Order: sequence, then structure tokens, then C-alpha cells
Amino acid sequence: MIRQVITYRCTHCHSDQIVKNGHNPQGKQQYRCKACGRGGVLNPTVRYSEQQKEQILATYRERPSLRGIERIYGVARQTVARWLKKKPSLCRRLKAPYCLPKPTTCSN
Ligand SMILES: [Zn+2]
Repeated sequence: MIRQVITYRCTHCHSDQIVKNGHNPQGKQQYRCKACGRGGVLNPTVRYSEQQKEQILATYRERPSLRGIERIYGVARQTVARWLKKKPSLCRRLKAPYCLPKPTTCSN
């Protein structure tokens, strides 16, 4: 008989005072932390490793469209957009014409 004991901790405060808190729509066990009150998925699925994320964002720097990245890597463009929000330095919209200061017009 093999018995494996896995101790889960809160991903926010690393407390071990966590309790089960139902399942999410995908059927994954959720937890709630009694120490900080936050909750989450007990054993979240990592769909894209940090290395894959970096590669996809590096591709984005070469200026393809989000739909192009979607076709190349098979990652949803909404997912790439969410990653970009966490790295505003990469966001192209900061350089969009409507974000720049308006040119002063001469009133002669
Ligand atoms: Zn916590």
C-alpha cells in the first residue's frame, strides 16, 4: 500500500488554514483560506509555462497581429491580451495616436 500525503497551502499567504470550498464549473476542487479569506483552485492547471509565455510575448514584440499569434501558437488572443495587461511596457496601445498629446494648432 502506498499512501501519499499532500499538504496544500494558500497560494496568497502560504497559510495551511485552508478548507474545501466546492468545485468550479470545470469540476476542479476550490479552497478558501481561513487566514486571509481568499480562495482559489486547489491544484490549478498550468496551461502555458513561463517559458512558453515569454516566447509568445517575444513573438508579439515582432509586431504580428494578435490573431496571427492565435493562428501560430493556438493560444486564444484574449489570453495574450491578458498577459499583455500585466506587462504594459509591451502594450502597443500606449503608442497609439489617440494616446499621444494632441498637436497644437495655430489659430491664424
Ligand atoms: Zn491565505
